[in-house]
Amino acid sequence: MNKRFTSVISILLFTVLSVNVSQAQAKSDNFSAKQLTQVASIKQQALESDLAWDLVESLTTEVGPRMPGTPGDKAAVSWAVAQFEAMGFDKVWTEPATFPKWIRYSESAAIISPAPQAMHITALGNSISTPKEGIQAQIIEFNDLAELESSPENSAKGKIVFINYRMDRHRDGNGYGPAVQARSRGAVVAAQKGAVGYVMRSVSTAYHRFAHTGGSHYKEGVTKIVSTAISNADADQLHRLVALGKPVTININVQAKSMGEGTSYNVIAEFTGSEFPEQHVLIGGHLDSWDLGTGALDDGAGVALTMAAAKIATAYGKPKRSIRVVLFAAEEFGLWGAKAYVKANENSLSNIVAAAESDFGADKIWAFDSNVHASSLPLVAEISAMMESLNVKYLEKNAARSGPDLIPFRPFNIPAFALSQDGTDYFDYHHTADDTLDKIDPAKLRQNVAAYAVFAFMAANANTRILGK
Ligand SMILES: [Zn+2]
Repeated sequence: MNKRFTSVISILLFTVLSVNVSQAQAKSDNFSAKQLTQVASIKQQALESDLAWDLVESLTTEVGPRMPGTPGDKAAVSWAVAQFEAMGFDKVWTEPATFPKWIRYSESAAIISPAPQAMHITALGNSISTPKEGIQAQIIEFNDLAELESSPENSAKGKIVFINYRMDRHRDGNGYGPAVQARSRGAVVAAQKGAVGYVMRSVSTAYHRFAHTGGSHYKEGVTKIVSTAISNADADQLHRLVALGKPVTININVQAKSMGEGTSYNVIAEFTGSEFPEQHVLIGGHLDSWDLGTGALDDGAGVALTMAAAKIATAYGKPKRSIRVVLFAAEEFGLWGAKAYVKANENSLSNIVAAAESDFGADKIWAFDSNVHASSLPLVAEISAMMESLNVKYLEKNAARSGPDLIPFRPFNIPAFALSQDGTDYFDYHHTADDTLDKIDPAKLRQNVAAYAVFAFMAANANTRILGK
């Protein structure tokens, strides 16, 4: 496109924006005409900004994987502090969070008989090691965790349990819940049935041959057995072999270690409000990642886009209320940073006027919803109207569940919001070696920044504060 043509389009866009603004200002109780002009401009600036891309590129390239307690995690904390300071935030600080530390050294697996071949496997977080030569046993297949749970006592005695449940693909990611149970509890149930090892089909919608890692847990009093996941392609292969009716023997070799208590840090930064500095909008993501990829989608994108949105939302100076970005620690090991944050800030959680976490990749935001007091709904409607041109649909259910790190906030009835990304492809890459920067589309990332910038600006600058339920 030539330059002159581009500038004609810019003028047309500006005209459209101006018309929208003058329509909105006529009926707004919450914003001045000047503020409405500013938020329209902020939205446009975000759509033209490479800031989020530059941040996620830097994080995934110069830091890389950030598993809690590793040198990469430590480097990420320093990176975040330095970036916030360079971006001109008024305050930047860290708060400690502890968690059970776990390290992966190596993993491999193979079908031994009847058709010898290697498999693509990953240890699940927290897994114990096998002996150096691995464990070798016949597998016993179950369709899902429920079938294993209802199987007779000792049904898996001396065997390796294989759960073959395949996750469904959905835009809102609702296939994850039913699938993830087998990841978090599968090894416990398998051990209770007498198994010597556990392998599951990855929690995945993918057609590639990567295994998906993720958190898993043991239970006191139940024997710990190795806990692993194989790629979809390898699960298909195992299933076909079992269906042939002959015993299938595999070997799993995992070397990993639990290291006791680890410490990391929530990294927090704020543009301080001019009128109500203690009241604040809280946006963010989690700074840690799994170790297999570089944590671009999970959750480098969420980190970068909320940092960028806060910066762009303050393009016209100090907001009325503070805009705070929280980069949570150790989310992948069990929301440890979020729990520490709630504990350390319990007395000021009532000052949160709006909270949203981005932790679902980097595809476009398609829906917006709140979880607030009914008296704040007219203001929420104004915010959503400003997102309409970004193709964000207002759901009007007022029952939003925001990102995982906001789960520990729920008992405090904070005003929570969901800016819902399209998650159709998210579980193709989630927790795999394939979660890398090339999976992020810069244009889609800019749309995310624009929606978050509109949200942060409007919640921080409205005449009235948003209240929780
Ligand atoms: Zn995540």
